Amino acid sequence: MNEDTIFGKIIRGEAPADIVYQDEHCLAFRDLYPAAPTHILVIPKKPIPRLCDADEQDAALLGHLMLAANKVAEQEGLGDRFRLVVNNGAEAGQTVFHLHLHVIGGRSLSWPPG
Ligand code: IMP
Repeated sequence: MNEDTIFGKIIRGEAPADIVYQDEHCLAFRDLYPAAPTHILVIPKKPIPRLCDADEQDAALLGHLMLAANKVAEQEGLGDRFRLVVNNGAEAGQTVFHLHLHVIGGRSLSWPPG
């Protein structure tokens, strides 16, 4: 699996992104093709391709990503009305093989997703 994705380029500053949050371990930027009024991707700087590739050593990092998503949601004024999505693997809809949390909000969200 090629670990050098478009998100790797964004991390290295080689591709543009509308960055809304970043810290030592992660980066958050607006999705290029938003599925809702607010649609932000939170990614680790470490290139983990899929959630299923993470292991026990990544436990703190995975928690950090969720807390970063909370910060982004608050920053975006989403309050307690947002959804986090992780697509794991091509058959589940993953198209960029660098782990990312979708933070989606700003409209009512139905369940289950397609
Ligand atoms: P996935 O389908 O869960 O892998 O999500 C990948 C997301 O990345 C999709 O929602 C795309 O719209 C988004 N995306 C792809 N390329 C870029 C980019 O260059 N900047 C921001 N978002 C992107």
